[in-house]
Amino acid sequence: MSSYIHDTINYLKQSSPAQDEFYQAAEEVLSSLKPLLDRNPKYQKHNIIQRIVEPERQILFRVAWVDDRGNVQVNKGYRIEFNSAIGPYKGGLRFHPNVTAGTIKFLGFEQIFKNSLTGLAIGGAKGGSNFDPKGKSDNEIMRFCQSFMTELFRHIGATIDVPAGDIGVGGREIGYLYGQYKRLTGKYEGVLTGKGLNWGGSLVRTEATGYGAVYFAQNMLAERGDSLEGKVCTVSGSGNVSIYTIEKLYQVGAKPVTASDSNGMIHDKDGIDLNLLKRVKEVERARLTRYAEQRPNAVYTPVEDYPAGRNGIWGVPCQAAFPSATQNEVSEEDAAELLKNGCICISEGANMPSTAGAIDKFLASGIAYGPAKAANAGGVATSQLEMSQNASMLQWTFEEVDAKLQRIMANIYRTASATAKEFGAPGNLVLGANVAGFRKVADAMIDQGVV
Ligand code: NDP
Repeated sequence: MSSYIHDTINYLKQSSPAQDEFYQAAEEVLSSLKPLLDRNPKYQKHNIIQRIVEPERQILFRVAWVDDRGNVQVNKGYRIEFNSAIGPYKGGLRFHPNVTAGTIKFLGFEQIFKNSLTGLAIGGAKGGSNFDPKGKSDNEIMRFCQSFMTELFRHIGATIDVPAGDIGVGGREIGYLYGQYKRLTGKYEGVLTGKGLNWGGSLVRTEATGYGAVYFAQNMLAERGDSLEGKVCTVSGSGNVSIYTIEKLYQVGAKPVTASDSNGMIHDKDGIDLNLLKRVKEVERARLTRYAEQRPNAVYTPVEDYPAGRNGIWGVPCQAAFPSATQNEVSEEDAAELLKNGCICISEGANMPSTAGAIDKFLASGIAYGPAKAANAGGVATSQLEMSQNASMLQWTFEEVDAKLQRIMANIYRTASATAKEFGAPGNLVLGANVAGFRKVADAMIDQGVV
């Protein structure tokens, strides 16, 4: 390991203890940068590495709220404003019981390079809470969101910091958060993205991350003279990203055969019934067992029955895989199994779904591997399109936004691929995405002086 990586990770471990996911994300980016740093001493001279791993601002706050039984509940709230060198802070909010400062920090750090890679003027941030939305009533969700925004509102704004959704934060939560922001500030402005279509939202934003991950896979395969048509695909998760990945896979002639949640997975060899999945997850907010009850041919496997240390989804033979649930859901053993079964394309909808060992296996195999920062950037890119529409008080058609999304995903692929070639590692989109994302932000930081 090069000394700057070793020193930086050691410094992070001492100054920000117990943030393993953040160290993992930082190490992956730093490792990719070596050829760029070797060629350009200016980044070391301006101490960019030490500056870029330190968030510009970290906001931690208490979120107190009252549940339906009248009990007072307390959660932690976070907003980590990581880097604003190329635009206002932008990144989602995650509500999940496992959320810690380290989770939000890894996500915020990734977001800097992803946002840069879109070619749009957006900085990197992330936020959230250890609040668990599962099993809560609509009123409880509303009271929590109102309390969360009662602190957050003073830190955000349409040209300052623009949060969006992530795990556990969808259209319903964005609505309650927006309502409270408006009540507190009196401003009707594009301060959140993922808004409802009749009050400032953009067409295609709901679908954007999943659609974008499929467009990215198409770009990778096209360069290899291949396509997704007729391919059996596996998808993990059953939330926003997974559902719209499955929808787009059908539209391009592929066959998605799996979905999962934190309790188990479905293998539906005839192809996932998308309407049923949407009803179960988006309308009934139920578990995947309900899907299995209504599809006799689908096989449901609970997490307890997964092979030891493995994720059952990746044992289903496929030609293309779309990890779309959460971080570190593809282990080195899972990667080996995917490759053994003939998988030739991975496009990551989730953030950091593959462990470092899994990434090494994918890169060594030479398959088409689209890392999260590149493959799932369609979500944040379309959020920026929502900001543009809000700022100009216009609303574009579905076709206009979708065409822009397709162009952005093609550009991201071209940029990552060309950068990988420029640094002598053709096909290594991890290196290409990290270097291209970093270079733009680092150059802007140098231009703007020591701030
Ligand atoms: P959702 O909350 O809509 O769905 C998340 C899905 O993943 C659910 O099926 C959930 O199951 C499953 N899941 C979450 N945590 C775990 C876990 N620890 N183990 C197993 N399954 C889990 O979130 P999104 O679809 O929005 O986000 C999914 C991923 O995509 C995340 O990594 C997110 O950061 C990333 N992403 C999202 C973007 C967006 O626009 N929404 C943009 C870019 C990236 P369960 O219901 O049981 O918890």
